[in-house]
Amino acid sequence: MAGKSKVYWTDFRTIAFGDGPAEKLKKLVRKAGIGDIDMNGKFVAVKMHFGEKGNMSFLRPNYAKAVCDVVREMGGKPFLTDCNTMYPGSRKNALEHLYCAWENGFSPLSAGAPVIIADGLKGTDDVEIPVEGGEYVRNAKIGRAVMDADVFISLAHFKGHEMTGFGGAIKNIGMGCGSRAGKTEQHSNGQPIIDETLCRGCRACLRECANSGLEFDSAKRKMHVNTNNCVGCGRCLGACNFDAISFANDAAIEMLNRKMAEYAKAVVQNRPSFHINIAQDISPNCDCHGENDAPLVPNIGMFASFDPLAIDVACRDKCQEAPRNSNTQLHDRKKEKGFRETGDLFIDNNPDSEYESLIEHAVRIGLGNRDYELVFCK
Ligand code: SF4
Ligand code: SF4
Repeated sequence: MAGKSKVYWTDFRTIAFGDGPAEKLKKLVRKAGIGDIDMNGKFVAVKMHFGEKGNMSFLRPNYAKAVCDVVREMGGKPFLTDCNTMYPGSRKNALEHLYCAWENGFSPLSAGAPVIIADGLKGTDDVEIPVEGGEYVRNAKIGRAVMDADVFISLAHFKGHEMTGFGGAIKNIGMGCGSRAGKTEQHSNGQPIIDETLCRGCRACLRECANSGLEFDSAKRKMHVNTNNCVGCGRCLGACNFDAISFANDAAIEMLNRKMAEYAKAVVQNRPSFHINIAQDISPNCDCHGENDAPLVPNIGMFASFDPLAIDVACRDKCQEAPRNSNTQLHDRKKEKGFRETGDLFIDNNPDSEYESLIEHAVRIGLGNRDYELVFCK
């Protein structure tokens, strides 16, 4: 993409007895041009992360309500959505995921719209989407409700991430909209691992596999992987109610980043999309953690753009410029043996992480622009 993409932003300053942050966010998205999208009578997916149980740095429901209010003003029909996780936490199926979202305050009253878990009860309800310009993913496996929506809005919490350095719009879209099999495709290079101590021999996974990748040992009443046939598609993961199936988190980070960019492209290609990043409570790791450590830098602001890459790069740059908070994970890293400071906030915070491959590949496949023009809105 040639030229620069516009990224609109505002800080968290408010005037006493004036508008609060939610009203500021509404003004920001209108200024950034959300009104150019025809939402009249359309289903509008607002993709966000409802926070793992125990985590408190996820975005407050008030931000979701502000976005849903704007969507409704424009005649749209908003719903909040996310897909189930690959790992066995508190959001691995729609039932637990909904309880987690409710516990974290996401009721239709507080968040402005109902929550729909996009890949269904067991994370198996996905749609295979060919990625335009894709090189690593033939068909992205995206949660069905995300793909059924006419308009897509990403509402992301911008923070650090242990693998991808930072998590913003592209992470929220690419990884977040992948079904359990889709997340497995991005995270793992391999085949499932079956824990015999947890396997109850129910054979539900066998019915899910289209490749004869599983074999049942009738004598032991345990399932095994047929390593000759398994293609590592991840379909069996969602079938097991007993957490007996897992995949190693072993994809090289560069490969994970490239696949994630391609998954994000599958979600936004061929329909209107809009992106909002809130750089607040900038925790060192993902909101998938059941805890959140102290923020790395002070709160920065709210960002809005039609470009998912430009908005992420703008947030990264704003965080890099910010003064570092004292007593954070970054300070612990600096005490670790062999630590070599790079000056990059996110890499120093998580030295094994990497994000340049994400930016490069996102540019390469036409997902967005790394060059941006920042427009400040009061
Ligand atoms: S679904 Fe789980 S418990 Fe059932 S046979 Fe497969 S691995 Fe074992
Ligand atoms: S990963 Fe796919 S091919 Fe392999 S056993 Fe599971 S469902 Fe079958």
